[in-house]
Amino acid sequence: MSVKSKFHEARCQKAVKALIKNGFDAIYVSTKEEAVKKALELVPQNAKVGVAGSVTIRDLGIVDELKDRGHEIFDHHMVDTPEEKNRMRKGQLTCDVFFASTNALTLDGKLVNIDGTGNRVAAMIFGPGHVVLIVGANKITDNLEQAMDRAKQVAGPMNAMRLKTKTPCATTGYCSDCQSEDRICKITTIIEYKPNLTNFTVIVVGEEIGY
Ligand code: SF4
Repeated sequence: MSVKSKFHEARCQKAVKALIKNGFDAIYVSTKEEAVKKALELVPQNAKVGVAGSVTIRDLGIVDELKDRGHEIFDHHMVDTPEEKNRMRKGQLTCDVFFASTNALTLDGKLVNIDGTGNRVAAMIFGPGHVVLIVGANKITDNLEQAMDRAKQVAGPMNAMRLKTKTPCATTGYCSDCQSEDRICKITTIIEYKPNLTNFTVIVVGEEIGY
């Protein structure tokens, strides 16, 4: 095993223990392939599935697998008009299983996320029957301060570049706490403990995925 893999595994295992202490179901898997297998096992037949605007979930090919299995999918990236996109976002709030990642996971088991519209973070807190997060080792931070920093200084600018938003970070690569209407981080959430009425599984992967 490479030093990098050992480093990732040790940190992932610590985060998983902390997540379990905080009431979540959490498991460690060493590869992306294992993560996909585990994630798909958690989706019952005929379940309605919501998918966040997540690079991790798309990179893993989970959406295509779910389509092949015939699930009804609520993914606003699959449709074009504003009306259709909002129907998908609302569907994410009441689906059976909601897939997303997180912008940061702390070693003491807290999940930090930023959002512009809010459908992703809202669905992570209340509504879906089961929230399943897949989190690459690159998203683990030592503490909450680093997690907030990661969300604003890494996830924010990289997602702004991906989405080509009219925000300074889409060009500069760093956050300048802008006042842009296009701002992609109008909302910041910290999930410290499993929300009351949501089954919640976090699959922590010993490889780097998404940003
Ligand atoms: S506040 Fe503005 S500049 Fe900073 S990450 Fe958010 S959108 Fe980018």
